[in-house]
Amino acid sequence: MQELLGRQKGLFRQILIVDDEPIEREMLGNMLDKEYEVCYAENGEQALDVIRDHKLTLSLVILDLHMPKLDGYSLLEILRADAELRLIPAIVLTSEKEAEVKSLQLGAADFITKPYDVPEVINARVRRSIELAEDSIIIHETERDSLTGLFNKEFFYEYGRRLENHNEDMSMDAIVLDINRFHLVNELYGRSYGDFILKTIGESIHGLVQRTGGLACRSDTNSFCIYLPHREDYEEQLPLHAEKFARRIGDYKISIRVGIFPDDGSGLDLEQRFDRARLACSKLRNSYTTCYTFYNTKLHDKELYSERLINDMDRALEEKQFKVYYQPKYNIRGEKPVLSSAEALIRWVHPEFGMVSPGDFIPLFEDNGLIQKLDRYVWREAAAQIRDWKNRLGVTLPVSVNVSRVDIFDPMLESILEEIVNANVLKPEEFLLEVTESAYTDNSQQIIDTVNSLRRKGFKVEMDDFGSGYSSLNMLTSLPIDALKLDMKFIRNICSDSKERRMVEIMIEIADFLEVPVIAEGVEVKEQLDLLKEIGCDIIQGYYFSKPVPPEDLDKLIEQEDGK
Ligand code: C2E
Ligand code: CA
Ligand code: CA
Repeated sequence: MQELLGRQKGLFRQILIVDDEPIEREMLGNMLDKEYEVCYAENGEQALDVIRDHKLTLSLVILDLHMPKLDGYSLLEILRADAELRLIPAIVLTSEKEAEVKSLQLGAADFITKPYDVPEVINARVRRSIELAEDSIIIHETERDSLTGLFNKEFFYEYGRRLENHNEDMSMDAIVLDINRFHLVNELYGRSYGDFILKTIGESIHGLVQRTGGLACRSDTNSFCIYLPHREDYEEQLPLHAEKFARRIGDYKISIRVGIFPDDGSGLDLEQRFDRARLACSKLRNSYTTCYTFYNTKLHDKELYSERLINDMDRALEEKQFKVYYQPKYNIRGEKPVLSSAEALIRWVHPEFGMVSPGDFIPLFEDNGLIQKLDRYVWREAAAQIRDWKNRLGVTLPVSVNVSRVDIFDPMLESILEEIVNANVLKPEEFLLEVTESAYTDNSQQIIDTVNSLRRKGFKVEMDDFGSGYSSLNMLTSLPIDALKLDMKFIRNICSDSKERRMVEIMIEIADFLEVPVIAEGVEVKEQLDLLKEIGCDIIQGYYFSKPVPPEDLDKLIEQEDGK
């Protein structure tokens, strides 16, 4: 927008006269060229080129309606649909009354009738149009987002509320539109391509609210809010719109997601309605098949449930509602499987909700950092458990614990782990650390440094969920690890799907190359076990042997082992 104001800075303001009649062009030019820098075009197409080239300096376009190639009406429509070009005022040259109305509807600032009036009148109209437009650019600058020309968030809510007050019984829907994986677009193709996409989508949205009498803003980098008179045809229309966006951008990798909170007469305030639309929209984050969804109370309940879990966590720690379960891992290299270690997995026995699965709360706690507190709790419990088995049963059973990505970036990580191990008089290699593969791709150098340092202290690090992330083969060779733990999803269909089987074989080859053992988890049936054994897998974890169980139950498995 700063640039647009540059238009006012030149000594002479620049005017473009567009007319196919040379004599008319000249007459008008002569009236204006003392005060303005005048340039000319003889048809709409040529005019559009000039306007695009001079959009930052052009103060006004004076435009004949009837011209070859692109006529005045079409040119007006094109200007109006463009976030930048629509800020340049246009005066239309007409000789008919109907044309005046139509061109004003198309966004013309004023009209000049042919044959021409006295020069003073024309000069006055030109000056007035330019001044009005310059004032509105200044207003525009504060109200609008410079990239898309849509309102900014503050003005959007302000005007939204005004619209509501003036039209109390008008039913309006709140819609949030996001661009999928936009940060990747910026990263892979550069900022200017990202800006192009935002602009194109902004223009389509602008067209939509112009047609329907709604309002729109860019509320965040890649997020748009649209306030639209209520309609019932989203299900038909939205997929068409999404398709249209993709076509306009010319890139089918770019897709949008849309969350809708339809007006339900509940009288929620504007922000709340958009919060709900945003919540609906966010649920589509990982969906490749649907582009829109409606807010429903279930979503809201889920949100409230999440909030409860977050609020309840401290108390749950104090009241020992968290229990650490253990799932055994068996070494299958020999003739008979041998219990070799166990994984510590957290369980939450919530006083109100009962047994809550870690899948429900771990991702929440990872988002807000609470996970660190919980992980430390699990590590302490697990270390104490190893000590307890040593003391009571005279057995050393190494236990692996999950180390979240947040923990990896904690400068205290190493000293905390050492303190826990020392407090229970354990050797570091009895305390295994599982780090998920995707953590390695976040900030690889820091993770590699941290893991190296932990391994120098004697800790063993297993790469969890291997195959689910995107660690490059190149990176793997410089990666310090002690075991590869295959992502469960490869095991599920390993017996029926030859591609999955091949994937696992390749991963085992990689592990062989790195000279580390392979752990397969999620093994539920004997066929899976047999196949994995055949292709060279070393260690197995899964329901086939045992679900994660409370420590007392693992006692029994340890005792069975002794009796083998
Ligand atoms: P994970 O680390 O990949 O753990 C393996 C998950 O697979 C566990 O789910 C386990 O119960 C499940 N599983 C094991 N064998 C089988 C099987 O044969 N079939 C099927 N269908 N599932 C099997 P769980 O306990 O629900 O944990 C889910 C995830 O939550 C874990 O995935 C881990 O990422 C996270 N998690 C659990 N406890 C902790 C913890 O103390 N700290 C952290 N940071 N994350 C944890
Ligand atoms: Ca794990
Ligand atoms: Ca895993």
